[in-house]
Amino acid sequence: MGTNEPITADGDMPKKKFYRSRAHCNPLSFNETFNYPTRPDFMDWTEEYYPNHPSLNKKEGDSKDTGGTISFSQLSNAMNVHPDVLDVGCGFGGLTMALSTALPNNTILGLEIRAKVTEYVRLRIVAQRKEHPGQYHNCSVMRTNAMKYLPNFFSKGSLEKIFFCFPDPHFKRKNWPRRIISERLLSEYVYLLKPSVGRLYCITDVKDLHDWHVDKCSMHPMLQELSNEEMEEDPCVALMKSETEEGKKVIREGKFGHVMYYKVYKRVELSEVDSAAASATAKVTVENFFQEGQFGVEVA
Ligand code: SAM
Repeated sequence: MGTNEPITADGDMPKKKFYRSRAHCNPLSFNETFNYPTRPDFMDWTEEYYPNHPSLNKKEGDSKDTGGTISFSQLSNAMNVHPDVLDVGCGFGGLTMALSTALPNNTILGLEIRAKVTEYVRLRIVAQRKEHPGQYHNCSVMRTNAMKYLPNFFSKGSLEKIFFCFPDPHFKRKNWPRRIISERLLSEYVYLLKPSVGRLYCITDVKDLHDWHVDKCSMHPMLQELSNEEMEEDPCVALMKSETEEGKKVIREGKFGHVMYYKVYKRVELSEVDSAAASATAKVTVENFFQEGQFGVEVA
């Protein structure tokens, strides 16, 4: 095999050992350029990510550009295809794949910053589509830095679910600004979630990180914690534990004990928010926005 040939051909199942890369990267100083649209509606998701999306109602193997011209209804169906479920930091894609079959009426997108890992997931999806004709066309993976470009890709209120499964813990205090759940980014996630419908999921095996998630999410006025009963009724909760590669590792090895900590939050309507109470309890205000300690940033 020549050195420029891919390790795995499209349609073959990739081997994980060829796609491992450095465990962590710094999402704040990651300077490689990523492509992103200036506005979400400039994105045609069917071109690269969902060429045979179920809503396009096409036969297996047809692709948009093989039939010459495309009809107005095909074009409008294509423009209506956009992800509504995100698996942020999807790693090797176990949950992304599982959500594809568990939520057949949704469009799932795994987001991953590491190039080799993203390529592994892409090949995994292509191989599964080949092995199970008609399946996995509603899921895909995209390489991006989810801390930077989400509003370029997704419009306001367009997402039903956002998963943060076993995010990098960034233990040291000076690295807390690298955490993917933060005051600032939560407002971005809330902006993207559909009011009343949208859910934000977080799970980790690191107790301190879980406490951080709960602290940040519970003080956000537009998020409401689900009760334990509501959580257990949601089939995605079981999938976060059983289908993520990290969840499987916790069950297998239990580096920090075999416990997984998780919570689910609902994106509430603006009308449901008691604004007086919200501003009374808000930790981040216009007055203290740049003060020492906010966002884990120490002022020199
Ligand atoms: N969610 C998967 C699971 O549970 O098996 C993988 C968890 S792994 C510990 C965290 C993943 O998030 C890594 O694959 C990492 O490359 C990815 N990641 C970290 N920061 C990211 C960012 N800013 N945007 C997209 N992916 C990110």
